[in-house]
Amino acid sequence: MPGFVDKPEPVEVPGLVHLHTGKVRDLYRNEAGELVMVASDRVSAYDWVLPTEIPDKGRILTRLSLWWFDQLADLVPNHVISTELPAGAPPDWKGRVTVCRQLAMIPVEAVARGYLTGSGLVEYERDRTVCGLALPPGLEDGSELPAPIFTPATKAAVGEHDENVSYEEVARKVGADTAAQLRQATLAVYGRARDVARDRGVILADTKFEFGRGAGEDADDPLVLADEVLTPDSSRFWSRDEWQPGRPQRPYDKQVLRDWLSSPESGWDRSGELPPPELPAEVVERTRGRYVEVYRRLTGVDWDRPAD
Ligand code: ATP
Ligand code: MG
Repeated sequence: MPGFVDKPEPVEVPGLVHLHTGKVRDLYRNEAGELVMVASDRVSAYDWVLPTEIPDKGRILTRLSLWWFDQLADLVPNHVISTELPAGAPPDWKGRVTVCRQLAMIPVEAVARGYLTGSGLVEYERDRTVCGLALPPGLEDGSELPAPIFTPATKAAVGEHDENVSYEEVARKVGADTAAQLRQATLAVYGRARDVARDRGVILADTKFEFGRGAGEDADDPLVLADEVLTPDSSRFWSRDEWQPGRPQRPYDKQVLRDWLSSPESGWDRSGELPPPELPAEVVERTRGRYVEVYRRLTGVDWDRPAD
């Protein structure tokens, strides 16, 4: 079963309790009851967390997510408290840490899609719907949808795929009011982000948000945007220059990785049982360049030559 090639051990830091090791991030709780999210340089492809890390990826994605939270601050509250390095944490955590309010999470992956691809395309080709929503005929892989849609999913365990669910199912699970808030917030944030990205030559094809509520907050309070937002790990970004509906679009960040993994050079059989091999230095460097590039395109800041 896909998953980790090498599952990392949690780091021992006095005052922090390890909660969870995700594919890419490690989660701790501090003594104030806040969540400490540490973004590693791990990268996944074809459902595997690869044995080779991409230098700076964790810092780039942490900063990108913070940049987005700022862009969205007038639309939606978010969980960020600070980026302070916890006392006693390894110096290597600097720049990868986000300290956040621990929320009660809404157990739904809030997905917005503005373009047809992936699991949406599979369903469309079968039923001409996505998550049960009827769509017009004639759409192809990569087509822009007439309007963005909310296509919620339920979270799956590592190595398994999230499962698309209908809006009605979400309403049954979290209540009609919260479901309506989820849809509204998801589409509002997606719409803003899509426009920001488009102005910078990047297509935000689809993305996943996670929302929660603070202690004592109820359905009258706005949902709080949590997790990471609008990074290549939670979103499909395509280059606007290369976008051409009717064929699979190449994911901006993973293109180099996937091309190499599926080439004879890697010697790896994607459909076999064996884990993927270590990446050659040249593939690592080019993949790192992709993260730097997406960061620069979106924020306008050159990662390797920051203005500050
Ligand atoms: P994947 O790599 O597939 O995303 P994962 O979701 O298990 O796997 P992470 O995304 O690294 O791993 O884990 C982050 C976890 O933290 C998720 O379960 C997410 O729902 C949760 N989370 C994010 N923000 C908050 C928050 N403010 N309060 C409580 N939980 C949060
Ligand atoms: Mg996650």
